[in-house]
Amino acid sequence: MSLYTILCVFSFLMGAVISSFLNVVIWRVPRGESIVSPPSHCPKCGAGIKWYQNIPIVSWLALRGRCAACKTPISPRYIFVETLGGCLFLAAFLHYGVFAPLAWLWIALMIAGSFIDFDCQLLPDFVTIGGMVWGVACSCALWALANYASPVFADTPLAVHPVASLAGLVFGFGLLWVIRAVGTKVFKREAMGMGDVLLVGAVGAIFGPVAALVTLVVASIVGSIVGLSQIAAAKIKLGRFTEIPFGPYLCIGCLVWMFRGPQIVGWYLHLLGLRA
Ligand SMILES: [Zn+2]
Repeated sequence: MSLYTILCVFSFLMGAVISSFLNVVIWRVPRGESIVSPPSHCPKCGAGIKWYQNIPIVSWLALRGRCAACKTPISPRYIFVETLGGCLFLAAFLHYGVFAPLAWLWIALMIAGSFIDFDCQLLPDFVTIGGMVWGVACSCALWALANYASPVFADTPLAVHPVASLAGLVFGFGLLWVIRAVGTKVFKREAMGMGDVLLVGAVGAIFGPVAALVTLVVASIVGSIVGLSQIAAAKIKLGRFTEIPFGPYLCIGCLVWMFRGPQIVGWYLHLLGLRA
């Protein structure tokens, strides 16, 4: 096996292991429980989960999705989140190379945020404000390293200039804040959660202002398509105030930006005749 192959396997395993922990975060944080103690246990019968029953992906399959003690079904979400995390970490390695760990942190926060938002229409501060702090810190660190250590640190799409990072934060936050304020005035009720506003601010801080805009546009398109198809399938009733969590769509938008952003911008500018 080549080193590259080993690093690919390592990236996937890293994503699966961290997502296994994120499953705990997703379950416990909204319930106000500690994420370190007590150790993992079956929520139904309380039986402790032994280390060999806690191996990402493999254990869920080996146990056929049931608690070893009481046979209560374990949600397929567990294996889904672990597989998703593994795939996204691997994709980040293929895209960002040695800089992938910087992207992994944000991907992990987005996975936790998306599922918590999906469950309880709430985006925790450690995801949104944490993302903002991470974005500014990361851009400053890479900028300083590129200037004072080696230019290779500027050689990644993650190396956003500190000014662009701050501009992205202000633009992402400001744009959503205005949309939220106008929507709230028009509909006479909260049109969007503050968490969504902060999340786009975080995307701007990490990837710059253009990323914040593309993330919002992609999220709106994907959200509309999913919403309309759910209405078509009569899964949700068409109402003016049907609430859907927007956070997961914003995260999908951000992932699209991370892996295909510049291509989308190029294609759009070409469409407008602004670029050959
Ligand atoms: Zn059990």
